[in-house]
Amino acid sequence: MDSRRTYLDYNATSPLRPGVRDVFVDALSCFGNPSSVHTEGRQARALVAKARKQVADLIGGQASDVSFCGSATEALNMVIRAGWDCVITLASEHAAVLEPAKGCGADHYTVGVTPDGLVDLSDLAAALARAGGSGLRTLVCVQAANNETGVLQPIDEVAAICREAGALVLCDAVQVAGKLSFDVTDAGVDFAVISAHKLGGMKGVGAVWARPGLTLAPLVSGGGQEKGLRGGTENVAAIAAFGAAAEIIAGLLETKGGGCHVQEAFETSLLEVTPGGVVVGQRAPRLPNTTCIAVPGRAAETLVIGLDLAGFAVSAGAACSSGKVSRSHVLDAMGLGKELGSGEELSASAIRISWGWETTQDDLDRFISVWSQTVTSSKGYRQVA
Ligand code: PLP
Repeated sequence: MDSRRTYLDYNATSPLRPGVRDVFVDALSCFGNPSSVHTEGRQARALVAKARKQVADLIGGQASDVSFCGSATEALNMVIRAGWDCVITLASEHAAVLEPAKGCGADHYTVGVTPDGLVDLSDLAAALARAGGSGLRTLVCVQAANNETGVLQPIDEVAAICREAGALVLCDAVQVAGKLSFDVTDAGVDFAVISAHKLGGMKGVGAVWARPGLTLAPLVSGGGQEKGLRGGTENVAAIAAFGAAAEIIAGLLETKGGGCHVQEAFETSLLEVTPGGVVVGQRAPRLPNTTCIAVPGRAAETLVIGLDLAGFAVSAGAACSSGKVSRSHVLDAMGLGKELGSGEELSASAIRISWGWETTQDDLDRFISVWSQTVTSSKGYRQVA
């Protein structure tokens, strides 16, 4: 039996980029507190400063506008909880956006997405009009790429519409960063958030970029770190690793549309062996590393377990937390719920395959063959919570 493991869940988290581990381990010897004035402190501070520049370069910003914190979730909370009168989100945003948007005390409007997963621009215009135009402090949250489907939003178009209406834009760039080139100035956004562990760094580090002149309030105060924005001694080694990962990938990035030939060939092969299979968001621009496929009559959970036993790590398209699969608000927002009209829910049968720098063509070819066997042998539709 083949005991190899093949990891195809890069959108959940990625392995460390080659070279990043060494930077992390070296940085561990630099044990000083970055706030200290002595040599050890200055050495640690220099590592954080270097990483800030590397991360800023990845997204086309200035180092002085980048702040580190404990995760992208924290960074998103920091921006969303900054005292807006109104927060507008896409229905397909990550929970790290939707939950603070609902709980921050601002008026909250949700903008729908099309069956392809793209922002409904007329809905956005209506939400901006309801928000009251430029009289109110309005934040619009729009993700660059969706974690479940890989669908890419037209960020620059959204940002232009928001600017016209006097609203500011927060871009959740967690999934796009490190997969395609993303530039905060070209995108025209006011805030952007990225996460180290999605691009080859460590877990537990995020970064927020704010357009010069915009200020945020700390969620965690005391200590004055990160210019007072995020209290608590910095995780210097993980921040250094974040910077290294950012620098390594900056030179390797595809532009929109790049890398799609592998995805196209993969999806063609996948659909050939999946009777009735639907690639979610297939007509929309997408990340070149992500395929979300729904298989009528099959429960995603069963497929994930079958594939795991066969050596392949993938996710259910539906949100998975604490090892339990629950309904996907993203697929529901795209109308994949009761698509089949027979009581079966397509969204409950969606699997996300996401690959990255360690994936070979052979891995994808072997996946197709194991997938074909798994889909054929799995049976039974099971409703998820
Ligand atoms: N936003 C998106 C689109 C994500 O995919 C994730 C992680 O899954 C997050 C935000 C949260 O990132 P972190 O794990 O750094 O909190």
